[in-house]
Amino acid sequence: MNILMAASEAVPFAKTGGLADVVGSLPKELHSNKVNVRVILPKYGAISEEFVDKIQYKTSITVKVGWREQYCGIEELIYNGVHFYFIDNKYYFNRDKLYGFYDEAERFAFFSRAVLEAIPYLDYQPDVIHCHDWQTALISVFLKTQYSQKQLYENIKTVLTIHNLKFQGIYPREILGDLLSLGSEHFTSESLEFYGNVNYLKGGIIYSDIVTTVSKTYAEEITYSYFGENLEGVLRRQGRIIGIINGIDYELYNSSTDSQIFYQYDSTSPDKKLTNKEALQNYLGLPVDKDIPVLAIISRLTSQKGLDLVQGVFDELLAEGIQLVILGTGEEEYEQLFRKADEQYPNQVKALIKFDEGLARKVYAGSDMFLMPSKFEPCGLSQLISLRYGTIPIVRETGGLKDTIKGYDEISNTGNGFSFINYNAHDMLYTIQRAVSLYQDKKHWNKLIKNAMDSDFSWEAAAKEYLNLYSELIGGSAIDVNK
Ligand code: ADP
Repeated sequence: MNILMAASEAVPFAKTGGLADVVGSLPKELHSNKVNVRVILPKYGAISEEFVDKIQYKTSITVKVGWREQYCGIEELIYNGVHFYFIDNKYYFNRDKLYGFYDEAERFAFFSRAVLEAIPYLDYQPDVIHCHDWQTALISVFLKTQYSQKQLYENIKTVLTIHNLKFQGIYPREILGDLLSLGSEHFTSESLEFYGNVNYLKGGIIYSDIVTTVSKTYAEEITYSYFGENLEGVLRRQGRIIGIINGIDYELYNSSTDSQIFYQYDSTSPDKKLTNKEALQNYLGLPVDKDIPVLAIISRLTSQKGLDLVQGVFDELLAEGIQLVILGTGEEEYEQLFRKADEQYPNQVKALIKFDEGLARKVYAGSDMFLMPSKFEPCGLSQLISLRYGTIPIVRETGGLKDTIKGYDEISNTGNGFSFINYNAHDMLYTIQRAVSLYQDKKHWNKLIKNAMDSDFSWEAAAKEYLNLYSELIGGSAIDVNK
């Protein structure tokens, strides 16, 4: 079974969020299940030298973007046993960040076409191309409308995984011909047209053989208008949206081996977690006191993440006597809010406005609780990483948060976190108060840490669900996911 994953980011090469974690770790698990999986990515300028030096040039071709012929280098690297290809074009990808440019429509139209054009040069014939999010959604569109007559492509199937429906790639009508070389027959509501514009993700949903998303609850939610981002009708028409919960890389996120944290520990040594906490407090210049609960937020600072709830009860939250550590970048409004709070409450708030993987690990390991009150959350990986480090998630019950975090029950001693249902600042505050109060009871709290660390969100089960999908697509027999 040959599976080619196409994505715009993957750990360890380029990361802005959870997509990179998934594309960096799912292939590793599939590979260990004897799937011949390969990954294809843009070769960004931001890839660290340690890898750039090892990436090998394979060949180069030209790829059409509208009437223009663009250079397309095909390069490769084997990492952790997985074969990665890189599409090189310095003009499109050698920039100081991954996204946020005026020509996004063109960059990812180029990349999507380059993936298809590169196939004859890979020495590898994919049975399935697994696309992720809007940046690679056009692969299915191009394949079905422009390539499927050609012998090399006629049997290739596509899967599209939606990691976040909010981001769709919506551009003016002109790009249909100018960048995508598609005729006006595709500017209809059954194809790429979307409220007078062209929508890449919509195209992907319509032209892919299977559409999946990253939790069962989100798969259900997005068929309703509150979560559907105006695509709920298209999703309902598609018929089957399969929800498969993400896993995380249990080797990478492992508190007993992680060299980036202050002291390694496991579920049998919660005291060592406290030494991480004291080291973190010291490192951040907060008062060092293991009895003060440390609450962390590690997140893109956007409205999706429920930060207006935090803003709404900020003073009441600090009145709980907690320390709050925020690591993130994003919308100006939230960066300012946390920077100001850091100045105003130097003994209680630390705002780290940056993207820093090593620091993230220290904060995961050194905090007691992790706050994630998202408005919507397709899967969420941060709460899974927190569990792995015995840091107790406090979440809103939506999408993958609902599927992975179960409230702690003091009678049966079950559950791995705290949750609240309504998108309401005081419901969140009340839930944090409950957590802070339980924190004082070490018997319960240590049990909660153990439950959290014993939760299993490795890729083992989820990868088998993907395997089943692939084999269904290429006409093979299903695999027993329970084995
Ligand atoms: P999303 O993909 O919506 O951003 P997820 O929870 O699925 O949210 O994944 C976020 C990933 O990005 C996690 O691995 C998290 O630790 C990481 N992350 C988010 N912000 C930062 C930051 N400022 N520094 C380091 N890692 C971050």
